[in-house]
Amino acid sequence: MSDLLITNIGQLVTNDGRDDDLLGIITDAAVGIRGGVIAWVGSTDAVPSNLASLPMIDARGVAVVPGFVDAHTHVVFAGDRAHEHAMRLGGATYEEIQDAGGGIYSTVSATRDVNLAELVLASRERAVRMLASGTTTVEIKTGYGLDTETELKMLDAIDAIDASLPIDVIRTYLGAHVVAPEFRDNRSAYVELVTGEMLDAVSKRVDFIDVFCDDVAFSLAETERIVEAGKRVGLDVRLHVDQLSRSGGAALAASVGAVAADHLDHATDADLALLASAGTVAVLLPGVSLTMQEPPPDGRRFLDAGVTVAIATDCNPGTSYVETMPFIIALAATTSGFTPQEALWSATAGGAAALGLDDRGVIAEGRLGDLVMLDTPSYEHLVYRPDGDLVRRVIKRGIPV
Ligand SMILES: [Zn+2]
Repeated sequence: MSDLLITNIGQLVTNDGRDDDLLGIITDAAVGIRGGVIAWVGSTDAVPSNLASLPMIDARGVAVVPGFVDAHTHVVFAGDRAHEHAMRLGGATYEEIQDAGGGIYSTVSATRDVNLAELVLASRERAVRMLASGTTTVEIKTGYGLDTETELKMLDAIDAIDASLPIDVIRTYLGAHVVAPEFRDNRSAYVELVTGEMLDAVSKRVDFIDVFCDDVAFSLAETERIVEAGKRVGLDVRLHVDQLSRSGGAALAASVGAVAADHLDHATDADLALLASAGTVAVLLPGVSLTMQEPPPDGRRFLDAGVTVAIATDCNPGTSYVETMPFIIALAATTSGFTPQEALWSATAGGAAALGLDDRGVIAEGRLGDLVMLDTPSYEHLVYRPDGDLVRRVIKRGIPV
């Protein structure tokens, strides 16, 4: 059953508006879905007679918004780093945390140590919570394996999540997350592995290639080399750039035609102009700033520069163990200079743009029937009640989850 008619929607956010109406709001609305695809959008008293026989949900006046698109996550991992976070909040330095066995390498070793079933069990629970909170499309990266065998195991886990849940998964190869521990004295050999054997093993199974371009990870020159290798085998590009310092990654993302450039805390105004003219989507991650006690991203600056902006959870065990997009929407609006409208748009249509997907993020004829029914009469409650569990019902391709 992927046919559905939803009537009596108090406030429908379509994202299909004009310049002065970013969210394209329709009141007293109805949406008809056939075969998982939106067939009609309009007001409840104008539902065409040929849709009247579809299975029906009466929304009883609540708000309905597009399904959330979480365009940057590292949901597949083993273990956790709660103690590391507590140490940091207690004043521990980066070195003290490393000495205590924390940091990204602890997640790499935990992820290598578990078998596939254990990895799926831990990771799938997170994806279930994402779906329950309204995320209908999620991007998931590899990058805690850093050897071919474990990167493939991560992809097997991602496939298992995709196959067992009504959530669409976009796959990103992040072999270039950091240099694998056994290669720390031979970086160039690791870049060789990432662009050679490992890339060959994964390239048919992923949509994007990604690199963490930063002082603690890969240089601009290394990033360029890895990106070119990915493009040669047909992968689209998205990059972690200018997070801890300005390395020039945003400018590189624009110049290689990346679909998205993520983090961007240290990007300059000139960098933003390059992203805007290249059409590269900026993915801002306010959960990271919150977790790391850093200044929040300045969304206003990006929006005013004409950059297309997405917001995402960056769900990961080190710097943002955040699973729900409603919380990110609230954070973006209360700490990062977004209006509530812009925050919601960036979590839906913006997320879709950041994944290069033009079939979702908008409630209009011909788009996927991915919708979130809230418990409230207006989408503004998403920002107003940041800890609220306001999602009543999730509809994925016309099917109530
Ligand atoms: Zn990330």
